[in-house]
Amino acid sequence: MEQRLDSLETARQTLPPQPFPPTEKVTEYGPTDAGLVELLLNPGIPSEGRGLDKTVDLLLQHISPAIADSAGPRYFGLVVGGATPASLVADWIVSVVDQNAILHSPRAMSGYSVIKDLAMRMILDLFMLPATMNILDEFAQHRVLQASDDIDFRALTTTGSTASNVMGMAAGRQWLGIHDRRIDYSQEGYDGQVVVVTNMAHATVWKAASILGIGRKQVVEVPKMGMDIEGNETDFENVVKEQKRAGKSVLVFLSFGEVNTGIFPRNTYRIADICENNNAYLHIDGAFGIYARCSPKYSHLAVGLERAHSITACGHKWLNVPYDCGFFIYRSHLEKSILEPIFSSSAAYLPSTDSGPSHPMNISIENSQRFRALPVWATLYAYGRDGYQKIIDENCRYAKTLFDWMRNERPDLYTVLTEECPLNIVVFAQKLTPELEGMPEGEAKTQVLSKRNAELLKRINETGVAYFSPTVWEGRPAIRAAISNWRTTVEADWEPVRTMLEQQASINV
Ligand SMILES: *Cc1c(COP(=O)(O)O)cnc(C)c1O
Repeated sequence: MEQRLDSLETARQTLPPQPFPPTEKVTEYGPTDAGLVELLLNPGIPSEGRGLDKTVDLLLQHISPAIADSAGPRYFGLVVGGATPASLVADWIVSVVDQNAILHSPRAMSGYSVIKDLAMRMILDLFMLPATMNILDEFAQHRVLQASDDIDFRALTTTGSTASNVMGMAAGRQWLGIHDRRIDYSQEGYDGQVVVVTNMAHATVWKAASILGIGRKQVVEVPKMGMDIEGNETDFENVVKEQKRAGKSVLVFLSFGEVNTGIFPRNTYRIADICENNNAYLHIDGAFGIYARCSPKYSHLAVGLERAHSITACGHKWLNVPYDCGFFIYRSHLEKSILEPIFSSSAAYLPSTDSGPSHPMNISIENSQRFRALPVWATLYAYGRDGYQKIIDENCRYAKTLFDWMRNERPDLYTVLTEECPLNIVVFAQKLTPELEGMPEGEAKTQVLSKRNAELLKRINETGVAYFSPTVWEGRPAIRAAISNWRTTVEADWEPVRTMLEQQASINV
């Protein structure tokens, strides 16, 4: 934190002079709380601006210390990532130049479009997806992996995986309208005939269905579709066929890296075949799971990705760029045929692109956009494939260390709730006391477990040694650790966490 404050000080010194003279010069402040209390006692916009100095001092001395530093190596809540130094510098530049990344125009936009295309190509490269570049034609011969007309991906930045999932669902619906129902939904409006079939999906899949007017109830979950039991792709096939018989079109939303456990579908190729045979659209939500493809140790988990029509990937999670950043990855031929009809925003003062790459504002949700590709480019350029492989490997090794320790060394204190730890997530609970174990399953037991779990989590987090977040796994209240920060290492961060976990679970309450 201290280092970050120093950097903030540096940033502050580079800021342009304040436009208004400060109304007062305050040099001394009370303790952190007092500063915040003062703000709370005087809510609302000040009638006269307080000036840059006072504001920056408040920011540095009172506000930032009160904000959880979730960029640290032992913040295991959510899948929070962090911010690499290269991405942080780039992100500051983005704020300073304040580019509106709305158009695609390599020559006129002095670097922005070129960097965006380079960054997106690097992202496709990182995930081992075949791609041509949508950069200037003269560079287009440089190919990442051998792309064919069929399998050729492009990527764009979004505000995160939620936005990418909304885009995936919108694209899937439009595609099904055109290819399965002969209706252009972007023009005619939606007839309610699409169902979303999914497996162990992230909550944002239902959110996307709600935003788009498909409806949460039209999301059909096939439990563990292809996830753990060999051969239960058949369940999936039956559901798809049943929906087709009922006259529906099927949009498949496949979870690639389940958020509580990090588990993957066992047979994505088979699922993709079933989609193809039933004219279904396949979107893969690989928010963080897609990063398994960065390492030869884990890439076997994430095979078959290239069979998707479109893909969600996160930026602010495992890529470790600042919030907010996600990626929407799509087959290039969908850009003009599917994305533009949905997302184009034509106005007289905005140029159109009938040929050549589409403008970002015409193929994504926002018109005005932050130049999110710059931190992405900077971090991939600075650390390379090798650097990212190391981050992924070390984060997964940390998760496995935690998993093995709980399972093999301290099963008397903790119970891990999954059989495997395939990637970077561990879901666990305190070992049940014999008396709890004996309780009949039901509401009363769940309540006790919930309370115990919340208490343990509170104690753990209050130590300040590490931070975890709560979850419920197969009905059981649990604690979840997702290791996703570039600085986390087994060497530096395991012993203190092990000792703390041992102490906190040994306390009798
Ligand atoms: C985190 C996550 C999301 C939502 O992403 P945001 O970046 O928080 O919008 C969606 N799907 C999966 C699998 C995720 O892990």
